[in-house]
Amino acid sequence: MHYSRLFGKTLRERPQGGSSKSYRILQQAGYIRSLGPGLFSYLPLGIRVLRRIKSIIREEMEALGGQEVLVPLVNPYEIWEKGGRAELVGRSLVRFPDRQDRDLVLSPTHEEAMVELLRIGLNSYRDLPILLYQFQTKFRDEEHLKGGLLRAREFIMKDAYSFHRSYSDLNNFFPRIFRAYQRIFQRLDLDVIAAESGVGFMGGHKAYEFLMPSREGEDVIVICEHCGYKANRDIAIAHKEYGSERPLPVEKILTPECSSMNRLSRYLKLPKSKLAKSMMYQSSQGLVMAVVRGDYEVSIDKLSKVSGRNISDLARIERVKELGIAPGYMSPLGISDDVMVVVDDTVANSNNLVMGGNESGLHYVNVNFGRDFETPLVGDIVRSRGRDSCFQCGQPLKEVRAIELGNIFKLGDVYSRAMNLEFQDDKRRRYYPHMGSYGIGMGRLLNATAAAHRDEKGIGWPVEIAPFKVYLMGIGKSHKVRRVVFDLYEELGPEVALLDDRIESPGVKFFDAELIGIPYRIVVTSGLLLNDEVEVYERASGRIWQVPLREVVSQILAY
Ligand SMILES: [Zn+2]
Repeated sequence: MHYSRLFGKTLRERPQGGSSKSYRILQQAGYIRSLGPGLFSYLPLGIRVLRRIKSIIREEMEALGGQEVLVPLVNPYEIWEKGGRAELVGRSLVRFPDRQDRDLVLSPTHEEAMVELLRIGLNSYRDLPILLYQFQTKFRDEEHLKGGLLRAREFIMKDAYSFHRSYSDLNNFFPRIFRAYQRIFQRLDLDVIAAESGVGFMGGHKAYEFLMPSREGEDVIVICEHCGYKANRDIAIAHKEYGSERPLPVEKILTPECSSMNRLSRYLKLPKSKLAKSMMYQSSQGLVMAVVRGDYEVSIDKLSKVSGRNISDLARIERVKELGIAPGYMSPLGISDDVMVVVDDTVANSNNLVMGGNESGLHYVNVNFGRDFETPLVGDIVRSRGRDSCFQCGQPLKEVRAIELGNIFKLGDVYSRAMNLEFQDDKRRRYYPHMGSYGIGMGRLLNATAAAHRDEKGIGWPVEIAPFKVYLMGIGKSHKVRRVVFDLYEELGPEVALLDDRIESPGVKFFDAELIGIPYRIVVTSGLLLNDEVEVYERASGRIWQVPLREVVSQILAY
């Protein structure tokens, strides 16, 4: 490729803003452009890296017997209703009518569509197990957009789905996909931690995330360096302390303008551990109130597990007001039976807490679980905190920021049952296939690979996925230099070499070569040609050396 012909040139200045540094470098180097919040265009350099990452993933999926398919981005709303997730996904699901007034959605994920594909594509249960995968666009109308490609609304995913005759067959397959994921990240030269995670709105039984430690990440992994325990902060279990004391009589007090934990704590001069915090969530089966101690945050994943309901989001404030509750003063005291109440064990085991009165400007003090309010649903529903100690060994936990690159879910027969996909075996027994779902966000992976391999000058791509292997340039106007440069280009070919044919100073060309991050650079000068040599530079090591002209192509191609 001739640089002068390349669409999407480097920018002199690095874009500023709150997004991740590696994303800003990707913009500056001409890989990506933004079209609007959460919407990204890939330029030719970005597409080349993406194509190489895809081919690594394809190899690993095909090695497991995977077959590539493509289901549409636009799905009938009907299949989302059948699967039971339409409400759950909530406002991030974009829904619109077609000209016949049939409801359609922009799919945020493709479990439903794959179940439908299996229904019409599979003749017999004997064809199971089967692994299907695709590279397809998804759309989620996310609320918080930060960090460039790490949180896009429209994004490309590699998603794979396996279907099995039995749960035990799915279980046996799971370690194989786990290892394939590890190999993919190894080939991209990424240090990745696999940690147990919540199943979220995917449902199912078990999930693992593959996370790359990075300050640019939005996820937090809790790690115990002593015993090796690791889990996503949302589901990590940590040791909790309860302060038990003699229950005192409950009292009503006035607390004007104390609708937040901070204000209440300041007003009453009490630590947050003496306050109870209540939050209302929506689930597909109704409202769920979570009650935790004021010094903790609710984990939606744990709340879903303890409540047995699939919880997606906070309830809208209008729903809370409809129940006659003043927002900011919410509590389970005297609440309607329609609301399921789940209490964290710290609240159940702490005495004399301060709790909202469900009326504006009113709280109760000395509230005790079991005496003043009750629920059978008590469990661990809080996020672990950085200062907590390990539940298994008591040693201090550590929190590590990370970028989530992929996840694997053991879904079981949740979807095949909900969508009534059944097969008959030889003995005419009917059963629902068991399903696994395995995703990798391609834009995230590109962004994370850039984050892992970036330096002050640009991105040092691993050879296997670099947009070009060689950056080729000549210095000076000598006719011989130009001829040698073009001869080398002919030999290396346009797929391997990016030829900088611009009329620019060597300084500008060196700067761009580092920024774009091509692994090898060949420089031709008339001085070097006197000895029939050229100069080779390896970006990863910083090494510069001279190579005889007639050997340079074979040497470079061998790397
Ligand atoms: Zn431990």
